[in-house]
Amino acid sequence: MADASTHPWDDDKFHEECGVFGVWNVSDAAALTALGLHALQHRGQEAAGIVSLDEGGRFHSHRGRGLVGENFSDAKVIASLPGRAAVGHNRYATTGETALRNVQPLFADFEFGGFAVAHNGNLTNAHALKRELVRRGSLFQSTTDSELFIQLMAISLYSAVEERLIDALRRVQGAYSLVALHNGALMGARDPMGVRPLVLGRTGGTEGVPVSWVLASETCALEIVSAEFVRDIEPGEIVIIDDSGVRSIKPFGRGTSRFCIFEYIYFARPDSVMEGIPVYETRKRIGQELARESHVPADVVVPVPDSGVPAAMGYATEAGVPFELGIIRNHYVGRTFIEPTDQIRNLGVKLKHSANRAMIEGKRVILVDDSIVRGTTSKKIVEMVRAAGAKEVHMRISSPPTTHSCYYGIDTPERGKLLAAQHDLEEMARIIGVDSLAFISLDGLYRALGQPGRDAAKPAYCDACFTGDYAIPLTDTRDNTERQLSLLHATQ
Ligand code: SF4
Repeated sequence: MADASTHPWDDDKFHEECGVFGVWNVSDAAALTALGLHALQHRGQEAAGIVSLDEGGRFHSHRGRGLVGENFSDAKVIASLPGRAAVGHNRYATTGETALRNVQPLFADFEFGGFAVAHNGNLTNAHALKRELVRRGSLFQSTTDSELFIQLMAISLYSAVEERLIDALRRVQGAYSLVALHNGALMGARDPMGVRPLVLGRTGGTEGVPVSWVLASETCALEIVSAEFVRDIEPGEIVIIDDSGVRSIKPFGRGTSRFCIFEYIYFARPDSVMEGIPVYETRKRIGQELARESHVPADVVVPVPDSGVPAAMGYATEAGVPFELGIIRNHYVGRTFIEPTDQIRNLGVKLKHSANRAMIEGKRVILVDDSIVRGTTSKKIVEMVRAAGAKEVHMRISSPPTTHSCYYGIDTPERGKLLAAQHDLEEMARIIGVDSLAFISLDGLYRALGQPGRDAAKPAYCDACFTGDYAIPLTDTRDNTERQLSLLHATQ
C-alpha cells in the first residue's frame, strides 16, 4: 500500500484507489469508456487506460500516466481503439509503483485468446500468493496485486474463461470489483463481501437501436454515457455479458455484505447512488445527525470544501444556524500547476483554500469536514480561519475518528500517523487548535444510512478504519508481523 504522504498534492485525506468501466455492444466503445472514466476521475488520478476489442477479435490498448483528459482527448488515440467493446481503468496507486507496466487494464494472451482486466480494490493475501506463484515459476510483469488474477487464471486447469476466473477468485482474499474483457464477453465481478462498488447499466433497446451494456464503479459514470441504471452487481456475483444478454453466477454462495461505509462519507461522487442509497442525501443526513449529537452555540456553519459541503448543509439546517461559504476553494490547483517543490508544498492549504473574511470575522464558527486523517490540513485550515478573525472555532467531523488503516483498496497512512489512533479527543482538539472538536458517533453514522445503529454482532458495512473490525483476513499483514517478529527474535 502506498503511503498517502508521498502524494505530491496530498490533502490529508484517505484516497479512493481506482475506478473501473466497461461497455459491450456499442459503437465508439473507447470514446464512451473515456467519458465513463472521466466521470470516475475522482477515484484515481495517477494513470488511465483503455483496452478495446474490435470486430475481428483483436485487442487494442492505450495506457498512460496522468488524467483521463491528458490521455484520451486526442481523436487519434480514440481512433486507435476501434471496436464495440472496451474496458477502462483510473488508477491511484495502492500497490506497486506508478510505472507504466502497472497501469491497467492489464492484458494477457491465453490459449482461449486475449484477456483484459481492470481492478478496483486491494488483495490482502497478494504477497503470500505471489510468493507461492513465483516459486512455481510464474513470471510477473508488474508489481500490482491485480496481476494475480491473470497469473492465477494462467495456472488454472480449467479451459473455459469463466471457470478459470472463478478458479482465480477462489484463491484471492481482499476487496475487488473487476471488469474484464475477452473475445466472447464483458465480465464483471465483486468480492463476496462487496466491499467496493460496481453497477450495471444499459442503453438502447428501442427503435431498432441494439441494447448496449455498461459496467461502472459508480452510477455517475452511467449518467455521462446516457445509460440507465439497472442494478448493483451483488457481493460475490460474476456477470457475463454477451450478445444474448446478461448472465449471473454466484459461485461462492451467499456472503455477508460489508460495503465500504466511507464511500458514503467521502469517496463516491455526491451525485452517485450506492447500493440504492443516494450519496448526497446521505451526507446531508450525516450532518443532521452530527448536529443532533454535538451542536454548540455558533453564528455560522462553514464547510471545508468541497467534500464537507453536504454534511455542513445538513448540520446548518438541523441546528438552525446560517450556512456560509466561509472558505473558498481554488479549483485550479492541481497537476496543471508546476511540480510542487518543498517550498510550495509548505504554503500548504493556502494554495487550495482561502478564508472568506466577511463571513468569518468576529463570528463563532462551526467548521464541518468529512474526516481527520493526520490532522495536518485541519490544523492549517483552523489557523487560516482564526487569522480571518473568527471569535471561536469548533470543528465537527462527519465520520467517526479514523483509528485504523484500510487494507481494502483505500490509500491510507500507516496507523502510527493517524491522529485519532494516537490521541484522545481533547488532545486532538488542542493539536488542531479548535475550541471544541466532535466526530459523529458510529451509531449516528449508521442511523444516517437508515439503520437503527451499528449492530456489533453483524455490522451492515465495512467500518474497519473506525473500529479495527476487519471482516476479510489480513493475511499479508499477519505475515509481515510474523516476519518482523522472527527478525526481531533473530537479532536478539
Ligand atoms: Fe472503507 Fe474504511 Fe472499510 Fe477501507 S476500512 S473499505 S475505507 S470502511
